[in-house]
Amino acid sequence: MITSDKKLNKTLSIVVPCYNEEESVPLFYAEAVKQEPFFHEKGIEFEFIFVDDGSRDKTAEVVKALRKEDERVHLISFSRNFGKESAIYAGFERAKGEIIVLMDADLQDPPALLPEMYSYIESGRDFVGTRRVDRKGEPPIRSWFARRFYGLMRNISKTDIVDGARDYRMMTRKVCDAILSMKEYNRFSKGIFGWVGFDIKWLEYENIERAAGETKWSFRKLFLYSLEGIMAFSTVPLALALFFGVLFCLLSIGALIFGIVRTAAFGEPFWGIPFVIFAVAFIGGVQLLCTGILGMYLSKTYLEVKQRPIYIVKEEL
Ligand code: UDP
Ligand code: MG
Repeated sequence: MITSDKKLNKTLSIVVPCYNEEESVPLFYAEAVKQEPFFHEKGIEFEFIFVDDGSRDKTAEVVKALRKEDERVHLISFSRNFGKESAIYAGFERAKGEIIVLMDADLQDPPALLPEMYSYIESGRDFVGTRRVDRKGEPPIRSWFARRFYGLMRNISKTDIVDGARDYRMMTRKVCDAILSMKEYNRFSKGIFGWVGFDIKWLEYENIERAAGETKWSFRKLFLYSLEGIMAFSTVPLALALFFGVLFCLLSIGALIFGIVRTAAFGEPFWGIPFVIFAVAFIGGVQLLCTGILGMYLSKTYLEVKQRPIYIVKEEL
């Protein structure tokens, strides 16, 4: 049984969101503890916070088994699948450490990078992030859409959202508290991490494929997530509605003046039925588009206003 060591005066909280990761969790734990000697020398103890995001497999049992061996392992089980964003929030709330690191359970975030990340924290940085320099092993179509998404975000959002940035980040308590202070329900972590600021030190590494299990992100989920990001961190789509509104008002006034002048000067009939149908349909379409955009934001505001909890705990150890 591993118990907490009183000689160590600092804690590194390792927050691991897990959704159906029964195979990955033990592999992850085994790899992570290999980094412990380095941290012990610095007087730092590990604390593991596994957040079981409503897994349908034996993830919770596997974590409980680890907890029997190692009392520094903690488990939070959600009542259903709330999504990685909620799991991150719950993990951060429970983290007691002075330093916090967020890692995936599938070993795509290599624990071997922990000492290097820590070295930057030690030298005074508050936030260390990691980026993949390639997207090896990913379907090309997915990479293409991902790149378009980041390109778009750069143009329409003031928040710094970096292409290839992973959620594998180490931070000081200050940064963790700042993230926790953002209590919004629609959580887009990549945006939140950028929004809180602090001088991020980026470490780069090559993409690593999953150790076990399979990705939880279908193309559909990723697409919805990207919309989440756009709506959470940009109001440009709202301005777009305004832009089109103004543009078509001006155009219609122009058309009206043109029609009046033409009828007065040349006695020609005011535009025919087909034009009227076109105009009505076109303006109607634009209005619907704008209303749709408004509706999207409204639905987000609605959820926010309700102040629903970000997650619900079923069991906590
Ligand atoms: N995850 C989660 N809840 C979800 C989906 C994913 O907690 O609804 C966790 C998952 O168990 C993993 C991490 O988030 O530890 C990243 O997920 P995944 O590896 O499927 O994403 P990818 O690496 O393919 O982007
Ligand atoms: Mg993964």
